Amino acid sequence: MTESFTNSIRILDIKYGTSVDGIGLRTSLYCAGCENHCIGCHNPQSWDEKGGEEIKVEDLFHLILEADMNITFTGGDPMLHPEGFIALAKMIKEHTSKTIWCYTGYCFEQIIQHPMRKALLELCDVLVDGPFILEEQDFSLPFRGSKNQRIIDVQSSLKDSTINLYNVSM
Ligand code: SF4
Repeated sequence: MTESFTNSIRILDIKYGTSVDGIGLRTSLYCAGCENHCIGCHNPQSWDEKGGEEIKVEDLFHLILEADMNITFTGGDPMLHPEGFIALAKMIKEHTSKTIWCYTGYCFEQIIQHPMRKALLELCDVLVDGPFILEEQDFSLPFRGSKNQRIIDVQSSLKDSTINLYNVSM
């Protein structure tokens, strides 16, 4: 694990009070870097992992605390370099009761095979997984762009060793 990825995250944007990145009003962190390069990606400018601004994990934590909202990690792809997000998610879970949603182009099954990505997964409440597939695009879907993407209840899925979908009508 490199020191840089552990202590900081390259951030493209922070949005407060967004309602499109998960249930309720959330603080969304948009990180730089994605290697999935989905055709039709809504945000190809996020693919460059050197984009955005490097922000210390501790500073991000304090920015998050200022807003009384739950958290979403998105991008780019937070699972590309999960180290900083692991450190941030640990602080969030240790000091707050905020829920964490994470968006990624990797599938749940791929993530659990990768030790660092699995470590981040274990700190999340909900994972929206899989690449955006243009042929499966559906504007009516809440919180995702294409039908193949799943909204997964992470903790119950890890416990049951199967995919349990998250009920977005809750
Ligand atoms: S995973 Fe998301 S950010 Fe990455 S290319 Fe696909 S749609 Fe774009």
